[in-house]
Amino acid sequence: MAAKLIDGKKAAENIKKELKKRIAKLGFKPGLAVVLVGDNPASEVYVKNKGIASKDLGFHFELHRLPEDIDEIALLNLIDKLNQDKKIHGMLVQLPLPKQINESLIIDAVRPDKDADGFNPINMGNLLIGDNKVIPATPKGIIRLIESTGIKISGKHAVVVGRSNIVGKPVSILLQQKNATVTMCHSKTEPLEDHTKQADILVVAAGKPRLITKDMVKKGAVIIDVGINKVMGKLIGDVDFDDVRKVAGFITPVPGGVGPMTIIMLLENVLQCIWLQGKIKTV
Ligand code: NDP
Repeated sequence: MAAKLIDGKKAAENIKKELKKRIAKLGFKPGLAVVLVGDNPASEVYVKNKGIASKDLGFHFELHRLPEDIDEIALLNLIDKLNQDKKIHGMLVQLPLPKQINESLIIDAVRPDKDADGFNPINMGNLLIGDNKVIPATPKGIIRLIESTGIKISGKHAVVVGRSNIVGKPVSILLQQKNATVTMCHSKTEPLEDHTKQADILVVAAGKPRLITKDMVKKGAVIIDVGINKVMGKLIGDVDFDDVRKVAGFITPVPGGVGPMTIIMLLENVLQCIWLQGKIKTV
């Protein structure tokens, strides 16, 4: 029997309805600022989608565009201004940044309680010690998608392929917090299939088209495909969807799986920031 589809679009729509109710009770517009440096085409698309989703939820949305050759000081000055701006409750600097900019310096400069992406080391450190404040959007969305299947994470063997700071590492910590036993795989893991075959829950964030095939997956597993790869003009994931679907229990499509959840989780993070700033009593 073919795997059940985990519909990220539908899950995101449901969360959007909840967020709309919470926003209506605020009495003010949540403010999100996005800083875009240069004109990376993928970043342009991501930022555009964040703007559309923000406005749809009634946010005050600001896009700050800076030229590709901007220096670090100018960018830090803008972050400082946004850190102090009362209309702005959450912000993010779209990554990647041009080579002349030290990315970690920029991430460090975003006020932890306005850090909508949750990439600031304070938020990352809090996640590591189990004192979650702002959780990066993609990993947060992944956990919600796994939970939407009704499969309990506790006691399961979860395998994460990819160890980036924005996906692999935080999602492995969240899975551990939910009492999964977690194996982390990366480009030096040999052989990868020995690990992936053990997974009750398999999260793949490698950025390698169709890396995971049917023979690498345990029957009935929950498969979360984070990858976004453009191959011959088409978006595909890191999982060979048509092949893996034959053996998996649940699987996310690409597009329409993790992607829509990432955006809505980012907006939920702005409400989390508002709470951290003491402007609402509960989240
Ligand atoms: P990175 O390039 O930062 O990290 C990729 C990770 O995958 C690294 O840890 C790397 O290992 C590992 N890896 C690469 N090749 C292999 C391999 N053959 N076998 C096992 N591990 C491998 O990527 P990101 O985490 O930023 O993104 C991963 C994918 O997810 C991309 O396609 C990206 O576009 C997508 N993405 C999607 C989002 C969404 O909302 N849907 C959000 C964010 C990302 P090593 O550390 O050894 O180099």
